[in-house]
Amino acid sequence: MTDRVAVITGGSRGIGRATALAAATRGFRIIVGYASNQAAAKEVVSQIEAKNGKAVAVKCDVGEEHDILKLFEAADKFGALGALVNNAGIIGKSGVRVDEMPAERIQRMMAINVTGSMLCAREAVKRMSTKHGGKGGVIINVSSIAAKLGGANTYIDYAASKGAIDSFTVGLGLEVAGEGIRVAGIRPGLIDTEIHGSGGEPDRAHRLAHTVPLKRVGSAKEIANAIVWLMSDEASYVTGAILDVSGGR
Ligand code: NAP
Repeated sequence: MTDRVAVITGGSRGIGRATALAAATRGFRIIVGYASNQAAAKEVVSQIEAKNGKAVAVKCDVGEEHDILKLFEAADKFGALGALVNNAGIIGKSGVRVDEMPAERIQRMMAINVTGSMLCAREAVKRMSTKHGGKGGVIINVSSIAAKLGGANTYIDYAASKGAIDSFTVGLGLEVAGEGIRVAGIRPGLIDTEIHGSGGEPDRAHRLAHTVPLKRVGSAKEIANAIVWLMSDEASYVTGAILDVSGGR
């Protein structure tokens, strides 16, 4: 895997940022995908370059197929693709029940969290599958412990989108198992990032920390550590599997 390219969607902030930094130290050349925060993406690139790593920031809204195609074209110019981390994801406003939910919200949730991840995986498989002349690789899908909990009275649409991601991890893992590609998922719990603010509750993770069996929120770095292990050859017999990194939640 050394010196191969890792595409990380939503690599500019939070879990994606921590994963980009960790994967760079393990020898991956990083494509830092971002939706709009170019400054944050550039800061990640600078940090990687400061440690003699290689990275480039590429604007890619995973809700737009055109952007996804451009993301992978940029990856092709950077080297041979070895890994995709399907990390980009959104939540909606917290506390909205399904009987109050506009169609546009549900459609956007699925377009970004589900369709975007599937289209990125499509582009990665085209490049990495031995069936297409590739050298194999790994795809990590970032799900959420919400997929198991259901998100009732909070964001049921988000939880359902992550449930779809879990099914996709299992199915894709089987589909490409004979083609040199491992697929794994990860279900973070309450992690200290800015995503909670976008749901209107910036302190949500800390407010609920007491409900976590380990009695604290997790850090983006703790999720990144698990992701880069799944990306590594140390996880060479792991495919179609999903790892909970949720403090027991
Ligand atoms: P975050 O801090 O809000 O960061 C989101 C990242 O995704 C940013 O880099 C952002 O880019 C990018 N992004 C947002 N919308 C995008 C889009 N439409 N297309 C491409 N990129 C987009 O989020 P996070 O907490 O790190 O979450 C990362 C992943 O972990 C998500 O899939 C989330 O569902 C999952 N997760 C998080 C938690 C948690 O507690 N934090 C728990 C379970 C699962 P810009 O910088 O350009 O905005």
